[in-house]
Amino acid sequence: MWQIYGQDHLLTHLEASLKQGRPGHAYMLVGPPNVGKMTLAINLAQAVNCLQGMGPPCGSCVQCTRIEQGQHADVRIVTINMPDDEGSNRTVIRIEDIRDVLRQVYLNPFEGAYSVVLIDPAESMREDAANALLKTLEEPPPQVLILLITTNEEALLPTIRSRCRSLQLLPLNKNLMVDKLISEHDTQPEEAERLARLSRGCFGWALTALAEGSGLLHQREEELDRLALVSQSGMDSRFTLANEMATLFYQDRSATKESLYQWLRWWRDLLLIKEGAEEYVHNTDRSAQLRSQATQLTTGQIVGFIKRVLDTLEALDRNASARLALEVLMLDMPLAAAPS
Ligand SMILES: [Zn+2]
Repeated sequence: MWQIYGQDHLLTHLEASLKQGRPGHAYMLVGPPNVGKMTLAINLAQAVNCLQGMGPPCGSCVQCTRIEQGQHADVRIVTINMPDDEGSNRTVIRIEDIRDVLRQVYLNPFEGAYSVVLIDPAESMREDAANALLKTLEEPPPQVLILLITTNEEALLPTIRSRCRSLQLLPLNKNLMVDKLISEHDTQPEEAERLARLSRGCFGWALTALAEGSGLLHQREEELDRLALVSQSGMDSRFTLANEMATLFYQDRSATKESLYQWLRWWRDLLLIKEGAEEYVHNTDRSAQLRSQATQLTTGQIVGFIKRVLDTLEALDRNASARLALEVLMLDMPLAAAPS
């Protein structure tokens, strides 16, 4: 059984090529954070190794179980946010990381039928690392499956992208998510509605928020308060925040990027209000604050800042200086009046 929902447009094709015993050598799993890319990647690793034969993973054989528990010797994850030899956190995937894992892959799989390499996030590969991987993608050894996970495929080398089959994961339909939360996760209807709306179709986010109780929702509140405060503040506070976010970025990239995604949603809401489309607003619990800020801004300012946030996310993916990129972003944030 596949463990992701709402991605039938991908699963139909995947199942067909698996059942013919001909999965691709490399896939690129693309989609917003928490939409289910990692779940699908793990499912694919199971699908090619499952003892019930290639196809949707059974989820209960020894291969499927060991992969799910992260104990399978032939399934390797290359990632960041883990300590390097000096004990500080890695923010890029280095050529040594890729070479190490490929060296092992060229030996035959010894526990399952396939060796699987999962690279997450793939846009964190330095250029030399990506080029090292490219050689393997050009002449893939048999019984190897390479899975690249990314929120931003544009940040990957075109030569890498062209050699992978692309799997675009879509946000889950809201009603489907509400149904799943109620029927399979014992959520009250009102809570399910709220989580589905705030998750923007990313089921993983909703499940994490559910498991953490109010933790994630509280974090969202804090982030929005911080954004409101800084948009009313002068340069000193803005540079302090840029500094904090850059420091956080070097420890936990995804946390800083998640903040910026939150900002994007906020500014997109401002634009919707400005354009008279308030019914599509995401942060409905803060409508009054949104309306008040929207009246102080021109559409041009809002669109301009949205573009700047997108540029910043891209700069961070390109491994540009995070501090500099964030400082420039703060300079460009239009000043809002403090509430009277
Ligand atoms: Zn199985």
